[in-house]
Amino acid sequence: MRRKNSYRCSFCGRDKSEALILIAGIDGHICEVCVEQADEIIQEELYSGEKEKKVEGEVTLPETVTPKQLKTHLDEYVIGQDDAKKFLSVAVYNHYKRLRQKQSDIEIEKSNVLFVGRTGTGKTLLAKTIAKFLNVPFSIVDATVFTEAGYVGEDVESILSRLLQVCDYNVENAQKGIVYIDEIDKIARKTDNPSITRDVSGEGVQQAMLKMLEGTDVNVPPQGGRKHPEQKMVKINTQNILFICGGAFDGIEKHIAKRMNTQVIGFNKKEVERVDDENILRYINHQDLKSYGLIPELIGRLPVLTYLEPLDLDALKNILTKPKNALVKQYEKLFDLEGVKLTFTEDAIDFIASKALEYKLGARGLRSICEAIMTDAMFELPSDKSIKTFEVTSSYAKEKLNLSKLSKLRVA
Ligand code: ADP
Repeated sequence: MRRKNSYRCSFCGRDKSEALILIAGIDGHICEVCVEQADEIIQEELYSGEKEKKVEGEVTLPETVTPKQLKTHLDEYVIGQDDAKKFLSVAVYNHYKRLRQKQSDIEIEKSNVLFVGRTGTGKTLLAKTIAKFLNVPFSIVDATVFTEAGYVGEDVESILSRLLQVCDYNVENAQKGIVYIDEIDKIARKTDNPSITRDVSGEGVQQAMLKMLEGTDVNVPPQGGRKHPEQKMVKINTQNILFICGGAFDGIEKHIAKRMNTQVIGFNKKEVERVDDENILRYINHQDLKSYGLIPELIGRLPVLTYLEPLDLDALKNILTKPKNALVKQYEKLFDLEGVKLTFTEDAIDFIASKALEYKLGARGLRSICEAIMTDAMFELPSDKSIKTFEVTSSYAKEKLNLSKLSKLRVA
């Protein structure tokens, strides 16, 4: 039989005698330090990070902050993307100004936003950061799961279910929130040809979304989906909900280039030569979205159109080190909690960023690459109290990455 004092934390290896509390699970144990660290990771990942934060109490409309202040705040968390930040700041400012205004004869229309940019360039991050700053409810939904009413899939009304859940079903609060609709490009019309088969996940969904984006009463299934047909619907007015949509719009460059080439005939030929091929997205306009397969009515309800630049090596290096919760800072903190001073050499940062660029995963790749590099150290160090400093060099990073599954990634 196992002796009681031979129990160890299965996460950090700490012996029972070193831990204050060791909680037993089915097949292992966890100490109080690891519980705390796990909790921090959960908080970071679920609430301050990727996902939505629960909003409690009454949500008051954000104090008047100027677009410049909004942008300055975005700068702390999001690297580059100046145009997108500017457009978003103005749109958000106008949105909340519109909500504040007393009844007047001139009705200011909603300024829903559309971000176009490759995956992992910061579209979700921008929306999430601004909502957090304003302290309004925020939810993320994926447009790909929706279909026209009556078909297999979810009704567009459930776009609002998540928002309602974030607000603990407080309708008043939900009505002041921001919804980020991801992968909006996936509901583009599938073909120009009005064929016999209905386009239930493309144009059908676009049609169904129109009223909601514009502002109307929507009957929302509180649990979402169609899995609970007996659930009581909750009425939400979307007049004051800001919708931010994002999509990669793969291949839209073709449409932009085509439009620009056909536009620039004769005298303006020089213009064409100046077109920056790497970032042709910066010339995007609403016409290109129509050629891509969004219906004009939907485009009209997303009046603020902006683009995100592809991230280059410098941007990726900055993302690793500069933002308030940059990955490198997070690892340093994690190690610091163990009493270890962690440093990354300049060329290690360079190496990680260049790998992310190579794998074409945008900034999203940085995290997985760092995990692959750091896991061994995070596994070993807690059991060796003699180590007080740890330096990640490019050769260490290379060695660890080569051993990981990531190195088998085929470069597209
Ligand atoms: P997408 O454009 O696909 O919505 P995300 O915003 O979800 O991309 O970005 C994924 C992750 O990559 C973010 O959580 C963030 O850590 C990082 N990231 C992406 N772009 C930037 C950026 N411009 N500045 C800082 N971090 C970024």
